[in-house]
Amino acid sequence: MDFDAIVIGSGITGGWVAKELCERGLKTLILERGRQINHRADYMDFAPPWEVPNRGMVPEDEKAEHYAIQSNNYAFNSATKQWFVRDSEHPYSTPSGRPYTWIRGYHLGGRSITWGRLSYRMSDYDFNANKLDGHGVDWPIRYADLSPWYDRVERFIGVSGAAEGLEQLPDGQFLPPMGLTCVETAFKQKIEADHPSRRVTVGRCAHLTEPLPEHIALGRGPCQLRNVCERGCGYGAYFSSLSGTLPAAKKTGNLTVITDAIVERLDYDHAKRRVSGVRVIDAKTNQGRSYQARVVFLCASTIGSAQVLLNSRSEHFPNGLANRSDAVGRYLMDHVVGIGAVGTHPGFLDRYYYGRRPTGFYLPRYINITENEGVDFVRGFGFQGHSSRSSWRRAINEPGVGAELKNRLREPGRWEVRLVGFGEMLPRAENRVTLDKRADQWGIPLPHIDVTHGENERRIAERANRDAAQMLAAAGFENITTNGPVRPPGHSVHEMGTVRMGRDPASSVLNRHNQAHDVSNLFVTDGSSMCSSGTVNPSLTFMALSARAANYAADLFGSGEI
Ligand SMILES: Cc1cc2nc3c(=O)[nH]c(=O)nc-3n(C[C@H](O)[C@H](O)[C@H](O)COP(=O)(O)OP(=O)(O)OC[C@H]3O[C@@H](n4cnc5c(N)ncnc54)[C@H](O)[C@@H]3O)c2cc1C
Ligand code: SF4
Repeated sequence: MDFDAIVIGSGITGGWVAKELCERGLKTLILERGRQINHRADYMDFAPPWEVPNRGMVPEDEKAEHYAIQSNNYAFNSATKQWFVRDSEHPYSTPSGRPYTWIRGYHLGGRSITWGRLSYRMSDYDFNANKLDGHGVDWPIRYADLSPWYDRVERFIGVSGAAEGLEQLPDGQFLPPMGLTCVETAFKQKIEADHPSRRVTVGRCAHLTEPLPEHIALGRGPCQLRNVCERGCGYGAYFSSLSGTLPAAKKTGNLTVITDAIVERLDYDHAKRRVSGVRVIDAKTNQGRSYQARVVFLCASTIGSAQVLLNSRSEHFPNGLANRSDAVGRYLMDHVVGIGAVGTHPGFLDRYYYGRRPTGFYLPRYINITENEGVDFVRGFGFQGHSSRSSWRRAINEPGVGAELKNRLREPGRWEVRLVGFGEMLPRAENRVTLDKRADQWGIPLPHIDVTHGENERRIAERANRDAAQMLAAAGFENITTNGPVRPPGHSVHEMGTVRMGRDPASSVLNRHNQAHDVSNLFVTDGSSMCSSGTVNPSLTFMALSARAANYAADLFGSGEI
């Protein structure tokens, strides 16, 4: 055996698995399809505005030619585009008229560099949902199974946030919270007075407001509130694989990382019911090679992991490895976005904010929890919110000309609050990833992604728009417009569900420990393992699942069971 364990992917989940396995003493190899990135040296966070190409803008012809999909993401700009794949080099297919926005980055650290760092726990409202309303399979775990792993992950990554005592948004191990602006505080007071079961809290985000000794030991420093996080942070002040899990894994002396290693497929030994080899194509030389280990963790992200399994066909698994249930690739979910509302406030003109704040506020789900009268759909939505005062750039909408207009624009404009809804998407078998007949430049079949929103998602969107507009109006906002149209699936970059866990091997791929029902040494711990999507940003849950599964695998490894 080359290694004790192989981890495929070095993003948010692969980093966590590698750290836990290395700390448990397993010689661990990370195979990462993208290029090497050097923490700090390869970031542009210290570039002053005038050194950022085109002040952040990417030329339209370059976007059209190379980044037709990726440039839809809010974090895409001239200082971050190296964290996004070139769509021209990494195509996938969708059915005509059914677009899917697959946002990704192939490099060491994956999307842990670009993520928005919002970190919320799921609750038993989420883990019980499938069982109660019959959509999807019952989760084989509950909140109590994951709670200690949420604790472990939060302590390590560092999550700034305020405890609220809400059942639907469990509290965690928080560093000091950031603050609300004056207009957010007024909004909070009004909404909570009108609706005692609704809550407005500051965003819970993976930033070190006050680093603990274990953060400092890894070279991480306190957040300087610069708001250029998506460029990568040289202070290591927000959590990424590069600032957190990979350095911790490296410290053990047990980690090997190979970049530019595209995992093409997994070989299967039917006699032993195990993965017997991981086949890799070198991204630069196109040469193939294979690695062996006693345990294999697939953490290539929800669509990437499904692609690898579907491409790992064998006599015993003709539809793809571990796919006796035919669930691999199915039940793809992403949060419904493009919903909510925005409005401006006539007041607080004598108030401003100083400095920056790399998070917003959050209004957790209340529908079908504390408010269910007249609701004609299952599940619900939460709102992420932001407030700001408009700058001189509002000139385009301001009446007037000449000196008077210019003088007026010297002052900040009105306060604006935007409520951005994130709606739950149901797991449906027909929303699936399959393999296209066409192949990429390395000969690997392209993913074909076929996903649509259903009636429940449409109703969620309507209600989220209505509630957002009503809350803003009640809090004294004017010029209210609802968001929309609903964006195509994929847009929220919260894809989940294609290799789901479940109790029954006939309808699910993984058991309650993210271990394949049918392949004892194969674990899949990224978002593909999720049975339902909940309403919160999901990466904290992916990390908790990854840490839990890695420690379970290390136990089995120690006892010789795998
Ligand atoms: C702009 C943006 C904002 C976001 N904001 C938030 C947020 O606020 N909160 C939140 O919870 N989530 C957020 N997300 C989503 C979050 O980034 C993902 O949920 C998370 O990164 C998923 O972790 P992962 O390990 O599954 O995938 P990734 O982090 O994408 O890592 C997968 C890795 O696998 C590698 N890989 C893929 N295929 C192969 C292969 N065949 N062989 C070898 N390696 C392979 C990739 O190169 C990549 O490095 C955001 C994402 C983006 C882009
Ligand atoms: S806001 Fe904090 S995490 Fe973001 S770039 Fe600045 S120091 Fe780093």
